[in-house]
Amino acid sequence: MAKIGFIGLGQMGSAMCPNLIDCGHSLQVFDISKSAADPIGNLGAKVSSTPKEAALDCEVIFTILPIGSIVEDVVFGSDGISEGMADSAIFVEMSTILPDETRSIGKRLAERGLSMVDAPVGRTSAHAVNRKSTFMVGGTKDDFNRVLPFLECMGEAVTYCGELGSGATVKLVNNYIAAVSNLVNAEGLALGLSAGVSEEIMVEVISKTPAGLGHITTTWPKKALVDDDSPAFMLDLARKDIGLALAAGSASEISLATGTVAHEVYSKASAAGRGRQDWTTGIYRTVKKLSKIVD
Ligand code: NAD
Repeated sequence: MAKIGFIGLGQMGSAMCPNLIDCGHSLQVFDISKSAADPIGNLGAKVSSTPKEAALDCEVIFTILPIGSIVEDVVFGSDGISEGMADSAIFVEMSTILPDETRSIGKRLAERGLSMVDAPVGRTSAHAVNRKSTFMVGGTKDDFNRVLPFLECMGEAVTYCGELGSGATVKLVNNYIAAVSNLVNAEGLALGLSAGVSEEIMVEVISKTPAGLGHITTTWPKKALVDDDSPAFMLDLARKDIGLALAAGSASEISLATGTVAHEVYSKASAAGRGRQDWTTGIYRTVKKLSKIVD
């Protein structure tokens, strides 16, 4: 079993450490807050007084900290991880930070001959307690295989995403989609409530359609993801329906900010001749064109 350094013992770190201990690993932990570190010390971990000390003689060093600048400081600041980490060790960064920050930290470590993967975490601290986290990992395939058994101690799904920073990118994409669709849900239900329909009825209906089930696994696989534009549902009809919702919302003074932006993009798609294409393929092609991913 391995000696592991673990830095950042907040909501997530404190939920993950007991699972590494249960797998039989010995932990050296650090947090600037003594009240965060002490409970993990009580489980048998050695509480260190600096990130450097927590990294000494460890096979793997994990961080899960609030933001990128803190991670950078914990790695490269005085008494940082990079001063204590052995050449044979690997650094696993799990915080939600920018892919560029991840790559910059990895580049500086590589200049010192030190290895890193990024492994941001999906789901919440309640999932982490029950080893139900998901991990999105970026780095070399060899480094991924080195850290896989440790991540499997803390979660139920570990996905290799590509080179260093890819984990951070996938995490960002996932949270963007989740957070924005959260707002669309709020807008849609507010529109229905204002017209006197109960949440219960709306949820019953929506949970059986792509609106509730999610597009990525329902409408997208046979259309947008294989670039098939034969319409299961035409883009112009979707555009018309967003317009109907905006008209109803405007009459009852419901704020439908996301829908307003969506209607603009659907209108651009329609103006570009995609009105009779499948709504998923047509809108994906439009966004890729606007983003200059395709000509
Ligand atoms: P948190 O605020 O609960 O914990 C952060 C910990 O870092 C705290 O204990 C704090 O004392 C410690 N810390 C701050 N600066 C430090 C330093 N310089 N040296 C050592 N320790 C330091 O945050 P959290 O919820 O555990 O989230 C951590 C990261 O995980 C964030 O990037 C967050 O976005 C991400 N994340 C959180 C969740 C969640 O459900 N909470 C889910 C997935 C990802």
